[in-house]
Amino acid sequence: MIRHCFFILFALLVLSCNTSQPTAQTVAKQITTEPGTAPKNLILLIGDGMGLTQISAGMYLNDNYTHLERCPVVGLQKTFASDNLVTDSAASATAIACGVKTYNGAIAVDVNGKKVKTILEEAEDKGLATGLVSSSTIVHATPASFIAHNESRRNYEAIAADFVNTQIDIFIGGGKSYFDRRADDRNLYEELALRNYYVTDYFSSDLKKVKIPMGSNFGFLTSDKDPIPVSKGRDYLIDAADFAVDFLKDRSEEGFFLMVEGSQIDWGGHANDIDYVTSEFLEYNKIIGNILDFAAADGETLVVITADHETGGLAINPGSNEEKIEAAFTTDKHTATMVPIFAFGPGAENFAGIYDNTQIYHKMRKALAW
Ligand code: MG
Ligand code: ZN
Repeated sequence: MIRHCFFILFALLVLSCNTSQPTAQTVAKQITTEPGTAPKNLILLIGDGMGLTQISAGMYLNDNYTHLERCPVVGLQKTFASDNLVTDSAASATAIACGVKTYNGAIAVDVNGKKVKTILEEAEDKGLATGLVSSSTIVHATPASFIAHNESRRNYEAIAADFVNTQIDIFIGGGKSYFDRRADDRNLYEELALRNYYVTDYFSSDLKKVKIPMGSNFGFLTSDKDPIPVSKGRDYLIDAADFAVDFLKDRSEEGFFLMVEGSQIDWGGHANDIDYVTSEFLEYNKIIGNILDFAAADGETLVVITADHETGGLAINPGSNEEKIEAAFTTDKHTATMVPIFAFGPGAENFAGIYDNTQIYHKMRKALAW
């Protein structure tokens, strides 16, 4: 009798388990959305000087909306450098790219000047396709800290020469003169061509019409030195970001790593020019929207969006409205305030909370299951 009861209980248990058992399809669906799922691709968007007030000012001027609102995960990061509470873009980009705290001016080297491997270089080692896009020169501190190693951010020619030592698949930004009219007379166009690169520029080609030889890596230089502000006619960054995603998305079965920098939000802050800040942010906001559209459709791409630091000590003062921001700046330099970080896609959950900027590197690696 007792045995009989056990049998019925067991049968009921099996039956109830069976009826609540999800199908293979629903399991697969749960797995792709479950925390801990590793993305295939990582797109890192860095708005230079894009603090919370810069975002807020642009948002109010944009019908009170920014595409950042689409990110389900938000965090805050501490930006200080090893030698100064107020970081520069070199120390902060090195923290993000390499996970080490270093001094202002350092390009992917530690406090002792020793080279530290970057996440872009690690991505290359792991067979991912890689890319850098910026609205500054491509040898400027932020992009440089992902690909070059130098004790000073000002050594632009040496930083450009480091591009020849890597396998980066695509780079788009300013600074042509550091590649083809150098003090040392090296011509990096020629050196890169010997290493399977097709390198061209804004002066001789149109990015929208450029024909890249099959299998070649690609470099495109958008200006001789610094690119101009978007308000004065710079028009390539949105297209370049789309171009890079398109170029990279099917290039390697291992996936891709891409960093796109909105460089000049910072320059607006240094100029204490609110229109400069907000026009650069609103262009970058469109790129954020396009990248999130790609990631939402792709389903295997983690997007991480942050700033390297705040610039200008910007405040939105009384008297502001959705047409006009009454801006006040406390400095024409950077400040040490924490800056926000936003994440979207598989692995996004890693980026909640308050943490040091060096943790961004470790969180990206953890998300990628490296
Ligand atoms: Mg920068
Ligand atoms: Zn700056």
